[in-house]
Amino acid sequence: MSVFWTILTIVLAFLATEIAGWFTHKYLMHGFLWVLHLDHHRPTKSSLEKNDLFALIFTVPSVILLVVGAQTGFDTKFWAGAGIALYGLVYFMGHDVLIHRRLPLWKSTKSRYFQAVIRAHLDHHSGKKNYGFLFMIPWRYFREKYSKT
Ligand SMILES: [Zn+2]
Ligand SMILES: [Zn+2]
Repeated sequence: MSVFWTILTIVLAFLATEIAGWFTHKYLMHGFLWVLHLDHHRPTKSSLEKNDLFALIFTVPSVILLVVGAQTGFDTKFWAGAGIALYGLVYFMGHDVLIHRRLPLWKSTKSRYFQAVIRAHLDHHSGKKNYGFLFMIPWRYFREKYSKT
């Protein structure tokens, strides 16, 4: 595979994962799987949440694509799996580390982009219907300027 197609595959898989995540969050996690997502919307004492099961579930297609793609000569499947895994890493760092402080690795950001992502997600926790995370959120978050979160 050429470098161009490799990068395009990673980028498209990354973007598709946000869209799939938005869909899953909106229609399944806030639907019949609410029983597993609920403890992410309520204060919990435990360091693990039932909601963490979704991280495992989302890992499955990525691992399958990486393993199968590695066996077929690191083709499109492998790089699609890499794109999904990359999204998972960015999501984990943004959602679990930066926003919810589950690990002391990244405590604040001056990035206007991440400030918007943080506000949109915290608004979701306050009851707004922002089901996406990195870009499937209302554009006003990226337009509005805030001095501090
Ligand atoms: Zn939610
Ligand atoms: Zn959250």
